[in-house]
Amino acid sequence: MIIFGTKGYIYQLAILTLVCGHCGNPSAHTLRKRVTKFTLFFVPLFPFSTKYATQCTFCGAEQQITTAQAEQLQLQGGGGGQGFEGGRPGGAAQQPGQHPYQR
Ligand SMILES: [Zn+2]
Repeated sequence: MIIFGTKGYIYQLAILTLVCGHCGNPSAHTLRKRVTKFTLFFVPLFPFSTKYATQCTFCGAEQQITTAQAEQLQLQGGGGGQGFEGGRPGGAAQQPGQHPYQR
């Protein structure tokens, strides 16, 4: 007997300040990646679905976005390109979790 199924994983990639399309507030949004993996005997083997979404922390509205949009948002969130938090335009990509001032 073969037991197979799927398992979902959610990764929080970034927190971004965006104007919410639902409540209209410029509030923090979490950028999340949801990966669904195929499992065999409860062992996850390979991902077959990857979806991105942003969720407003103010009203909780979730919006699905494309992979391209998610990458764009990550660049904005990671590099400070939007001007908040000191804005370093064109800064080198930083690894998440690294000390921000480490070179
Ligand atoms: Zn909202």
